[in-house]
Amino acid sequence: MAEMRVLIIDDEEVIREGVQRALSNRGYVIAKAENGEAGIEMIRDQGFDIVLLDLMMPGIDGFGVLEWVKEHQPQIEVIVITGFATVSKAVSAMKQGAFDFVGKPFTPDYIRIVVSRAADKIKLERETHRLREEHTLNIATIQNEQSRLKTVFGCMAEAVVITDNTGVVVHHNPAAIKILEIQTDPVIGKDIAQSILDTNAVEMVHQAMAKQVVVTREFQPGTISRKYLRAHCAPVTSESGRVIGSVTAFEDISTHKEIDRMKSDFVAMVAHELKSPLASVEQMIYALQVGCKYESGQACSTMHKRITVRTRDLLRMIDNLLNLSKMENGTVEFNLEPVRGHEVLDHILDVVREQAENKEITIAYMPSDEDWWFNVDYDHIRTAFMNIISNALKYTPQGGRVEIATTVIGGFANLSVQDSGIGISDEDLPHIFDRFFRVKGKATRHITGSGLGLSLVKEVVEAHQGYIDVHSELGEGTCFTLSFPITEPVKATPEHVAAEAQPG
Ligand code: ADP
Repeated sequence: MAEMRVLIIDDEEVIREGVQRALSNRGYVIAKAENGEAGIEMIRDQGFDIVLLDLMMPGIDGFGVLEWVKEHQPQIEVIVITGFATVSKAVSAMKQGAFDFVGKPFTPDYIRIVVSRAADKIKLERETHRLREEHTLNIATIQNEQSRLKTVFGCMAEAVVITDNTGVVVHHNPAAIKILEIQTDPVIGKDIAQSILDTNAVEMVHQAMAKQVVVTREFQPGTISRKYLRAHCAPVTSESGRVIGSVTAFEDISTHKEIDRMKSDFVAMVAHELKSPLASVEQMIYALQVGCKYESGQACSTMHKRITVRTRDLLRMIDNLLNLSKMENGTVEFNLEPVRGHEVLDHILDVVREQAENKEITIAYMPSDEDWWFNVDYDHIRTAFMNIISNALKYTPQGGRVEIATTVIGGFANLSVQDSGIGISDEDLPHIFDRFFRVKGKATRHITGSGLGLSLVKEVVEAHQGYIDVHSELGEGTCFTLSFPITEPVKATPEHVAAEAQPG
């Protein structure tokens, strides 16, 4: 603590010197003033902790100085010095706020005692003030900390449930109600078993507290809630090590689990989808190598055709996979150019006719009377059209019919593909554009596929400002319509004409 600064104000030099001597070497910094005016001046300029003040002085007397001090620097402790005959004056000085008084003549010891008492009082006041400030600061820090924790707690995506050492819930965050699908109201104040209706979860909380260890468990959908949950339960201990409760955080891991499942399904699906056609291609190649000498040319050419179809299917699937992954990570490039719609369809029809013939499916192609162009990436659009038309053939049984028509209405070209196939139920219809979604049932059991074709079609169509419409009747057939804004045809420039005129 800083040294006490003491000012002696007295017009009698003997008193000033006497007091100074009495207080010297006691750790005080002492200054002297010979009258009231000088004293006030020094207090104003230098600041003091204790003032020893003579009441009887010419000019401003002790009462005047005391009044000034109490008005301007009330923290200073004033000890008045009075003659014996003036005790009543000392008393009124005390009433005006003086700390104590010393009667003349005084002994050095007495002066020391009175000043030391004033110094103790000042020190005590300072300490009280410091403690009060510290206390206020601590309360503010705790309040800030609490408010911070409350915000974190409230914003947490994980469900958090806090219990006391008997398992009664003392706190939970809003996510707890949502994730744990708690129906109890209120949750706080009741045993955790009333809100979390799963014995394993309740047992986990008691185990964490009994063994004083963190317990981690996973809960399947249908146990605590409809979600897949991972819980970490930790005991809370007091400073003395006594268990005073538990904190359990529940994390919704349904998405992770779903991704894991999709990943496994995907690997299994890709392995199967690649393996079975490759195996049959390999067999056909072997049969060609061994048997071509003996088989008729017709049989060999059928096998060649089958190999080509199978290989094309495989390549299409790999293309779908690669394109989807590119679209997902944003690295896909669309090279837009004006393309003649019927040209894309003519190429596709050349390819799929063979597939149709194998299943004796009739393809009816009804192009619009007028030609139309659209501004698209040729390869991506071709894949999208191909996916829709191959699906129509794939999901239409032997001997069925597929109608492909184009129309131009209101600045849009529409491609509709109507099949007489197995159809899609109202329940499955909203999911067919989801990645990896495949209708599961008797009718689709033996039809192979990846569940990626339509999701790619949707991505491509939307990337070209188009839209898709689908109608289906279970057991009757399905109609997909893809619509795109049309564009102006490319004008033939002299260079085009010249290029087209080149032979070959
Ligand atoms: P897949 O590779 O399984 O054909 P798609 O993404 O192309 O994958 O199609 C998703 C699902 O939508 C298919 O598994 C099938 O159940 C259904 N589907 C698509 N097109 C048709 C259609 N023309 N007729 C009946 N069902 C269809």
